[in-house]
Amino acid sequence: MDSAFPKATITPEDERQIMDAIEKFLARDVRPYVMALEHDDEYPADIVEGMKELGLFGAIIPAEYGGLGLPTTTYAKIVELVSETWMSLSGIFNSHLIMSSAVIRHGTEDQKRTWVPKFATGEIRGGLALTEPNCGTDLQAIRTTAKRDGDAYVVNGTKTWISNGIHGTVFALLVKTDPAAKPRHAGTSLFLAQKGPGFAVSRKLEKLGYKGIDSAELVFDNYRIPADRLIGGVEGLGLRHALGGLELGRINVAARGVGVASAALKESVKYAQQRETFGKPIAEHQSIQIKLADMATNVEAARHLTRAAAEAFDRGDRCDMEAGMAKLFATEAAVTNSMEAMRVHGGYGYSKEFPVERFYRDAPLLVIGEGTNELQRILIARQLVQRNPI
Ligand SMILES: Cc1cc2nc3c(=O)[nH]c(=O)nc-3n(C[C@H](O)[C@H](O)[C@H](O)COP(=O)(O)OP(=O)(O)OC[C@H]3O[C@@H](n4cnc5c(N)ncnc54)[C@H](O)[C@@H]3O)c2cc1C
Repeated sequence: MDSAFPKATITPEDERQIMDAIEKFLARDVRPYVMALEHDDEYPADIVEGMKELGLFGAIIPAEYGGLGLPTTTYAKIVELVSETWMSLSGIFNSHLIMSSAVIRHGTEDQKRTWVPKFATGEIRGGLALTEPNCGTDLQAIRTTAKRDGDAYVVNGTKTWISNGIHGTVFALLVKTDPAAKPRHAGTSLFLAQKGPGFAVSRKLEKLGYKGIDSAELVFDNYRIPADRLIGGVEGLGLRHALGGLELGRINVAARGVGVASAALKESVKYAQQRETFGKPIAEHQSIQIKLADMATNVEAARHLTRAAAEAFDRGDRCDMEAGMAKLFATEAAVTNSMEAMRVHGGYGYSKEFPVERFYRDAPLLVIGEGTNELQRILIARQLVQRNPI
């Protein structure tokens, strides 16, 4: 793990109360509206207000900065529950929290005191601006530059696929402060960039799924950013700072995968008992039983891997391989289960009147975000070899 993230603990009773409060919120303020909001690709502004009141934008931010200071294990359970209802909502607070965690881990004392309390309440919300039109996995190839000019830097370039890009106002922005540096990562720096003159949203991106949350292209045209917004105050550590929250990010995406896989299973178990063919519920046909059994096993295995990675993270253990395995397995489980749910539902699985078509459109994003699953396999294999030298 990178620099220490403050340790957090919680009693089982406190955790139960938090989970109950979130479940009530989801039942009352989210579930009745998901279908309409999702199909219209409408930003869930009222739900975001409710999420602010629940403290979700500060879920893992330490209490000294006004957050709930929850351990990652509890956070993963929250993400799973929210994603079971609507995966897009977890993206609205998660990329915000990864940005916040970059400041908590690597920011100067002044940056922490200035920004983190406002992130914790959700008064200021944002996300991560890393990906560019020419690169996502290979972030060392970014072309956005920041040139020092007096007490500021002048930023030029384009970022794409940025979650919360339209409704967020502050982003952890990865740039090159020294494009000629070798190795390439030594020329990268991470800034906290707030929208203003020279920093514009150039377009909203249309997507297969993950609707409601805004994904945008951001353009920087001679955008002047004060030098004190350089996270940590030292150039050249940008990629390290941006990737330092990756275990947390992967555990979060794994938890989203568990949520989507579980939602697909729950809808299928219900439907298989309602739908009858040849005089009996389809749940009594062996081919459907096999699907339900495999889907349920996927959910359990994904949940265990995700919790094990979250526990390792909370203990402060190195857990890049564990988080990678959880991310890989749980997100593939979401893809498999959403497809199987469609099969269980027959023609209705293809209908917009049932939620399973949404799971099928949402799940593939999980294999791409926070490091593609191809990359996860490479990282897991590298770790395996490193941890088991002959
Ligand atoms: C809905 C959505 C939301 C997103 N939100 C954000 C966000 O908030 N902030 C942000 O910065 N980015 C965001 N992204 C971008 C996302 O992180 C990237 O799409 C992802 O990192 C992959 O990068 P890429 O699309 O450039 O694919 P590429 O890097 O071009 O990869 C293409 C293919 O090649 C494979 N590949 C690449 N390198 C290797 C290798 N060395 N070995 C084997 N295979 C390899 C990949 O696995 C993939 O299959 C978002 C994307 C989407 C779709």
